[in-house]
Amino acid sequence: TRDYMETYQIISIIGVMIFIYFIFFKNRKFAQKEISNLNEIEYIGSSTMTFDDVAGNYEAKESLLELVDFIQNPEKYSRFNARMPKGILLYGEPGTGKTLMAKALAGEAGVPFYAVSGSDFVQVYAGLGAGRIRNLFKKAKKSGKSVIFIDEIDAIGKKRMAGSIKGSDEGDRTLNALLTEMSGFADDSGTVVVAATNRIDTLDNALLRPGRFDRQIEIMLPDRNARKDIIKLYLNKINAEDINIDELADMTVYFSGAMIENLINEAALSAI
Ligand code: ADP
Repeated sequence: TRDYMETYQIISIIGVMIFIYFIFFKNRKFAQKEISNLNEIEYIGSSTMTFDDVAGNYEAKESLLELVDFIQNPEKYSRFNARMPKGILLYGEPGTGKTLMAKALAGEAGVPFYAVSGSDFVQVYAGLGAGRIRNLFKKAKKSGKSVIFIDEIDAIGKKRMAGSIKGSDEGDRTLNALLTEMSGFADDSGTVVVAATNRIDTLDNALLRPGRFDRQIEIMLPDRNARKDIIKLYLNKINAEDINIDELADMTVYFSGAMIENLINEAALSAI
């Protein structure tokens, strides 16, 4: 019986080892697949949007327009030792055109546009989120000047709490990787990182410090004038005539740009 017990033990140990190997191997393959999926989540390319595609948001547009020159002629600013803003945070209600404006910035400056979402970096596998951040910046650096857009930055940049519960450690690592990468590239590289959130109050202070997202621009719901501009922009696109724009602007209080765009599209559909 002792011999039998030993054989039994050896067999079960081997069994457990094979089992562990398979789990590990499968996970590794899965993780590699996840990393190669990176290409799918990033939209890389030149943006054809311009600030003409953005209606309303006059002050935000002006502030971003200034950045076009920073991106195109960084030497001009570094000659006077002026620090070019590295990070711009756009915050405000969803559908107010934050993504649109980041695209327009890249389009006007004529540089590649890299877009990711904070939620893409929230991963089950340790270190993957941080790795993705490093990968993203590596790619952006290769193309020289660029606009990197991180939507839903609150997903990785939540306030850190002392004695944080397990699971948020991974988020910390991703956030640290982002902060390191942002301080890593040169001031005159002609690269800016634009982040968007509708919950600025939940962001970690480390993100908002100088040298990080130190320029914060609020993107508000359009007022009556801005709504009129947005309505005109989209009515033009569908060749609509004889529409009372003032009346429509009065009827769309609290509408975001996205809601107005959708309203006009639905109206076009039912008219057709
Ligand atoms: P956010 O990133 O703030 O959630 P988006 O930029 O994704 O908003 O907006 C979604 C869509 O709504 C845009 O692609 C555009 O069609 C429309 N839109 C929103 N705001 C504006 C605006 N100010 N001017 C023109 N179109 C707008």
